[in-house]
Amino acid sequence: MENKFIVDFMLGRLCRWLRLMGFDAQYYRGSDKGTIIYRSLKERRIILTRDTGLSRKRALGIFIVRSDDFRQQLKEIISEFGLDPQESSVFTRCLECNKRLESIPKKRIKGRVPDYVFENHDEFSICSDCQKIYWKGTHRTLIKNVLGELTR
Ligand SMILES: [Zn+2]
Repeated sequence: MENKFIVDFMLGRLCRWLRLMGFDAQYYRGSDKGTIIYRSLKERRIILTRDTGLSRKRALGIFIVRSDDFRQQLKEIISEFGLDPQESSVFTRCLECNKRLESIPKKRIKGRVPDYVFENHDEFSICSDCQKIYWKGTHRTLIKNVLGELTR
């Protein structure tokens, strides 16, 4: 079964990077331990947190993230759960709401992205929930560098 995560409010950047790599990561903005544990059980998600006080409570699973740096945090999670981030999975999930992206024909996004983006890219995808449009060029160099570091 694919690992699903719920990420606590202290790990927002990590959460976005997990989504960016195509992993299912819900973000919990609140600080109520009961709620995050309830959602972990209900949605069968592993809690990613820096709060060591959560470790003894009952949940589907809890992983205490040690590092402050998001690259190291990603490494911890990739190694703990045996994840295998692929370049082909980058931008398959919305960074804002975690929904899977769908491809959208170029002609349908004219006027909805900056002109230079429209002219320089051919493949676009859209979030069915928040309607945000993505294209593969977004932060491409940064993503390649981080993926390179992680899989080295
Ligand atoms: Zn979205």
